[in-house]
Parts: sequence; structure tokens; C-alpha cells
Amino acid sequence: MKIIILGCYAATPRTFNNPTSQVLEMRNRFFLIDCGEGTQVQLRKNKIKFSKINHIFISHLHGDHSFGLIGVITTFAMLGRETDLHVYGPKGIKELILTQLRLSGSYTSYNLYFHELESNESEVIFEDEKVIVKTIPLRHRVYTNGYLFQEKPKERKLNKEKAEQYGIDTCYYQNIKSGKDILLDDGQFIPNSDLTTDPEPPKSYAFCSDTIYKEDIVPIIKNVDVLYHESTFLEKDAQYTERTMHCTAKQAAAIALKANAKNLILGHYSTRYGSIEPFKTEAQEIFPNVHLADDGKEFEF
Ligand SMILES: [Zn+2]
Repeated sequence: MKIIILGCYAATPRTFNNPTSQVLEMRNRFFLIDCGEGTQVQLRKNKIKFSKINHIFISHLHGDHSFGLIGVITTFAMLGRETDLHVYGPKGIKELILTQLRLSGSYTSYNLYFHELESNESEVIFEDEKVIVKTIPLRHRVYTNGYLFQEKPKERKLNKEKAEQYGIDTCYYQNIKSGKDILLDDGQFIPNSDLTTDPEPPKSYAFCSDTIYKEDIVPIIKNVDVLYHESTFLEKDAQYTERTMHCTAKQAAAIALKANAKNLILGHYSTRYGSIEPFKTEAQEIFPNVHLADDGKEFEF
């Protein structure tokens, strides 16, 4: 599982700071999460092929999370994309994009599907044979969701040497990997445990931005491998969290601790701070495994 941070700063794009966008690579799927202004440029800079992106998840419609979307959608069309593109986001996102397409005389060369969200309960919004995605209802100045990406259990690992020793035909390998026992022609029974080992446990990633401190997300993200949680402010500026509906680094760490997350990635920093290091120091006072997101940074778990 790989997370590529395209941008992780709050409010406006600046010379060296990009607004929120990231790519999650999970079981060979590339999910684009949020799409602040300049996301298509950041995709190019980080050498992520546009054609790999088939699903875009937008947390909320504030500009620093969504103003890059029309650019991505129209550039994909200019490049002659033919593959379907799915966009998940708050109710209204379809009207927003279709209005922009219509008034600018633009169109897409591919099928564009919108999956509009309006529930305040966590729901499954994407599922295939390898990955499942659920919403994490957040509380912000506009309707907002985080997203929980979970790998499904992997196939068992086949011990080829053992299988060959027993003379098992390769056509049974797929059955063995899915957990089945084998009965040989001579009547010998071989339990699956003789032929396979446990796969790596499935991984999970929770993206939570933007939100006020919201403890009721804890059961949804319980035991997550990696939690990305916004930390717009440091505790010394905690007075701004109520009005802007954001969190401090300490609050993000408290959520990670209560959720028993294995790792916490901080991001969505206010650009009022000269350095982001104090975010890590503050969070580590209550949660040990803290990582700082930064534009262009990659994390592998
Ligand atoms: Zn926001």
C-alpha cells in the first residue's frame, strides 16, 4: 500500500505549497483522493499516469479540496481518454461539474459517472474483488466525508515446492490458493495447511480531512493501519478550531490513539506556520507513530 501526497496544505495554493490531493495505490488500484487546484500538475510531477486513475473521491466542496477537479476531467478528455471515470463526492458535485462543462463548451471523451453522497452514516460506496471503500462522516463547515479504504483478504501463499513434491497438477493451484484441500488420484488427502502459508493481513487506510474533533468516527476506523488526519493548527492556536471547524495536531493524535491506529499521517497544515516539525512533536506527546505529510512525499506501508 502506497500513499503519494500531491498536496497537503490548507487554504490557497502557494509557490511551494499545494492544496489537498493524494493518490492511494492499493492492490494495483490508483485512487485519487481530493483534488485541490493544480492536482493535474502534481500528478505529472509525481509521474502518476492519468490513465491509471479511474476513481476520484472528494471529501467536500471547499476549493482547496475540489477546485482541481474540472481541470483533471477536461485534461483527461483532451488526451482522448476512453475509460470510464467515477467521481464520488457530496451532493451537488454533479451539477457543479456539468455546469462548468456546459458553460465552457467542454465535453468528455469518456463516460463520467457521479456517485453523490448525502448520508450522515458510514456507507459502502465502492467494492470490487480486492478493495472496499466506505465513507467516514465528518463535521466541517460544509457536508464532508472521509474515506476508509480496506483491502479484502488476500489469497493464501502457495508452497510450489510442496505442491510439486505431491505431483499436484498446476490446474489445481488456484483452488489451493483460495483455501481448498486436495484429494490425490491415489486417495491421499492433503490438507490445505500442508500446501500454503498465511497471506499478509489485509491493510487499511483512513483519510480524514477536513473536520472538527469528532470522536464518533473512532469505531469506523478502529485498528486502521494508517490514519491520515487533518491537523490544521497547533494547540497554541486551538481557539481557531471552533470557528473554522478544523483540528489541532494533538486532537488528530487523540483520534489515532483511541482508534488504535498503527500509524498517523498529519496534513492540511495552515500556512501560518514556518515549519511543520512542531506538528509532529505535538502529536507524538500522545501517539508514537507520527509521520508528516508533505507535497511529493511517498509513504509505503
Ligand atoms: Zn474545508
